[in-house]
Amino acid sequence: MKVVFVAQDPKPERWTAPIQKLLPGAEVHAWNPDGTAIDADYAIVWQPPAELFEREQKLKAIFNLGAGIDGLLTVPNLPPNLTIVRLEDAGMSVQMAEYVLHQLVEASREMEIYREQQRAGTWKIHRPIKRTDWPVGIMGLGQIGKRVARTLADLDYQVFGWARSEHQLDNITTFAGRQNLPDFLKHTRVLVNTLPLTDETRNIIDYDVLAQLQPGAVVINVGRGEHLVDEDLLKALDDGLVARASLDVFRKEPLPSDHPFWTRKDITITPHISARTLREETLEQITGKIRDHANGRPITGIVDTSRGY
Ligand code: NAP
Repeated sequence: MKVVFVAQDPKPERWTAPIQKLLPGAEVHAWNPDGTAIDADYAIVWQPPAELFEREQKLKAIFNLGAGIDGLLTVPNLPPNLTIVRLEDAGMSVQMAEYVLHQLVEASREMEIYREQQRAGTWKIHRPIKRTDWPVGIMGLGQIGKRVARTLADLDYQVFGWARSEHQLDNITTFAGRQNLPDFLKHTRVLVNTLPLTDETRNIIDYDVLAQLQPGAVVINVGRGEHLVDEDLLKALDDGLVARASLDVFRKEPLPSDHPFWTRKDITITPHISARTLREETLEQITGKIRDHANGRPITGIVDTSRGY
């Protein structure tokens, strides 16, 4: 079996060495932009060049080093029937739950006020929060959304979830489909986006959606930058419909230095770090699936390219 690793990492051996260890019988190569075909059976990729698919014509499946495959689906020459497998959790959902909880608590427990008070040397205790004042709505109930929802529900926040299909989750009220989006938004003060980027979800968080949230709304975007209409968020903040936003993902990354988000006090920016790909967990999952696939066993995480995730 031949495996090619394709990612812009200056030290690809950090990946190929553990892959080789996990697949001792395989021939493991790092992608060489100037090389020739190795007739790889499997590719492990992050943002591969179009040349991969021109050169490697015998691929049985490709494994994406991330949960979102929106970038991969736009690579030219991607064979239409190639099996694409995405990363499933692999240590990301716990990081995401932690990140969202942190951003939620920043807002619900007014942590910024205490930081300001510390700078002023002020000891002042504010009222405790009422959890019922902070209903959270999670868009997307997949590997990531479900874990976020469960974490917040376990802390007694009221949690609502929205997905394409029906879901049954303990202590979480769920809504399905576009027609039920208004109902979901009506219950939500803290909107958390964990959707994949598809033709159906691009620009989904616009002014109209933000206007349907409860007063004092908070937006936490950990999905993709293209889910959010930037100007609409700025307008909703200026109009007082949204109180603050925590953004981890952006239309253009790195976020351009002249982007208005940088200077807003009501926006918290992080550089796409809410859930990092963890090498060990990731490679264990992917090599396990390669073994199963090579032995004719079923694998999970195969992308349905017709729906885009
Ligand atoms: P997943 O398991 O495929 O879950 C996707 C969820 O979104 C599912 O619940 C799905 O509904 C729902 N969904 C998809 N299209 C929808 C639509 N049109 N309307 C309503 N709901 C829709 O994906 P995941 O592993 O949770 O990852 C989700 C996304 O998180 C990734 O695609 C990526 O963009 C993002 N992400 C970001 C970071 C970061 O560092 N910021 C890290 C990892 C992932 P059904 O359940 O009905 O199918």
